[in-house]
Amino acid sequence: MTTTAQIGVTGLAVMGRNLARNFARNGYAVALHNRTAARTHDLVAEFGEEGVFVPTETAKEFVAALERPRRLVVMVKAGDPTDAVIQEFAPLLEPGDMIIDGGNAHFADTRRRERELREQGIHFVGAGVSGGEEGALRGPSIMPGGSEESYAALGPMLEKISAKAEDGAPCVTHVGPDGAGHFVKMVHNGIEYADMQLIAEAYHLLRDVAGYSPAQIADIFRTWNTGRLDSYLIEITAEVLSHVDAATGKPFVDVVQDRAEQKGTGRWTVQIALDLGVPVSGIAEAVFARAVSGHAELREASRELAGPSARPLDDAAAAAFADQVEQALYASKIVSYTQGFQQIAAGSEEYGWDIDLGAVASIWRGGCIIRAAFLDRIRAAYDTRPDLPGLLSDGDFAREIGEAQDDWRAVLVQATRQGVPAPGFSAALAYYDALRSARLPAALTQGQRDFFGAHTYRRVDREGSFHTLWGGDR
Ligand code: NAP
Repeated sequence: MTTTAQIGVTGLAVMGRNLARNFARNGYAVALHNRTAARTHDLVAEFGEEGVFVPTETAKEFVAALERPRRLVVMVKAGDPTDAVIQEFAPLLEPGDMIIDGGNAHFADTRRRERELREQGIHFVGAGVSGGEEGALRGPSIMPGGSEESYAALGPMLEKISAKAEDGAPCVTHVGPDGAGHFVKMVHNGIEYADMQLIAEAYHLLRDVAGYSPAQIADIFRTWNTGRLDSYLIEITAEVLSHVDAATGKPFVDVVQDRAEQKGTGRWTVQIALDLGVPVSGIAEAVFARAVSGHAELREASRELAGPSARPLDDAAAAAFADQVEQALYASKIVSYTQGFQQIAAGSEEYGWDIDLGAVASIWRGGCIIRAAFLDRIRAAYDTRPDLPGLLSDGDFAREIGEAQDDWRAVLVQATRQGVPAPGFSAALAYYDALRSARLPAALTQGQRDFFGAHTYRRVDREGSFHTLWGGDR
C-alpha cells in the first residue's frame, strides 16, 4: 500500500532537508522531492529511520503522494527558482491546496504569487523561517502569512515543529494575510543586522579602547549573557571570540578578513523603510557598515588619514569602561528594536495586515537568530498596550534607556576621542535625542524649502499652510 503523506517538501538542500526531518520526527509522513533526485535519495539513505518519508522523483509523483488538501512546502533558492517551482506544481494542484514558501522571498514577490495563485483557488503561504539549518531541524521560529483558512490547516503542524519559548508557547503565529509573514521575516533579519553590528562595535571598543584580548572579551560577553543582554547572538559571540585558529594558534577573529558579506534581507529592510518613511537608522548603519568594510580600495587609500593615537585605558578604567559599553549596547539595542517594530507597524498599516506586534515579539523568543530574553518584555509591552506608538513610549524601556544614557554618551565620547568608529551606537543615540528634543531643526529645513521652492510651511500658532514672499526676484 502506498503511504499518503500529510506534508511534502520540495527543495532538499540544508534547510529543506532539515525541515523535512523535523516534520518526520514529529510524526508526520513527509513526501520528498528535489530537482536533482540524488538529494532525495541521500536523505532517505541517511535519515530514513527518523520517520515516514515518501521519496518521489517527478512533480506528478510528489503531488500524488500528498493527502488533500495538499500541503506542499517549497524550500528552494529564493527568486526565480521559486517561480519556476510554482509554475511546475500549480497546474497539478486543486482548489484548496496550499503551497508554503519557506524561502527568504521578498514580500512583494509573495504578494504577487499569492494573488496569482488565489485566482486558481490555491492558498499561497509565504512563511519566514528563522534559525538556520539547526533551527530547521530542532525547531525554527516560523512567520507564516497567507489566508486564515490555510493557517487553520497548517497551524497545528507548524506549532508542533516550531521552537518553543521558555513558557512553552510555540514560536509561530499567523502573522497576517499575503506577504505579512515574509515582511516580518525581512525586518527580523534587519534587526539581526543591527544586533550584530552593535555587538561588533562593543567588541571593537573593548579591544581598541579598553585594550582587552579576544579571550578576555569572550569572558565579558559570557557575563553579559547572564543578564539583560541574554541572547543567542551574545552567546555565539563569546564562542567565536574564544575560538583559536588551529593552523596559527592566533585568535580566530585575527585570521579572518575584515570584510562582511550580505545576502540582501538587511538591504531590503532599509529600502522598504525608505519607501514607508520609517527611520531605521540602526539597521541602515549596520548595512552601510558592512558595505564600508567591503570597500578594500577605499580603505587602502585612506590608511594615511590622520587620527588620534590610541591610548588604551589602565585596568581599573578598562573595567569601568566595559560596564559603560554594556549600557551603550543595551540602550542601542532598545533603539534597534524600537525602529524595527515601528517598521512592522508601518507595513501593517500600509498593506492592511493588522499585525499583532506582541505576537511577533512572542514568536521571536525562541528558535530564531535574534532570540533573546529581552523579547519577553517587548511582548509584555505590546500586550499591555497594543497601540504603543513605539517601545520608547513604554515606561520601563524609557526608564532603562534613561538610566543608560550617561554611560552611552561617555562611550561615544571615548570612541570619538580615540577614533574608533561606532556608527550603530551613535545613530541610536541620535535617534534617542531626536525623540526627546522639544524642538528639532526641521523648522529651519521647512524655511529653506519654502525659500527656494515655495513648498510652504505650517506655523506653531495658526492653522493652515503659509508661504513667505522672500524678496528679491525669486
Ligand atoms: P539554497 O542553496 O538557497 O537552494 C538550493 C535548493 O534550491 C536546492 O534544493 C536546489 O535544487 C533548489 N533549486 C535551485 N534552483 C532551482 C530551480 N530553478 N528549480 C528547482 N529547484 C531549484 O538552499 P538553502 O540554504 O537550504 O535555503 C533554502 C531557502 O531557505 C532559501 O530561500 C533561503 O534563502 C532560505 N533560508 C535559508 C537559511 C539558511 O540558513 N541557509 C535560513 C532561512 C531561510 P538542486 O539540488 O537540484 O540544485
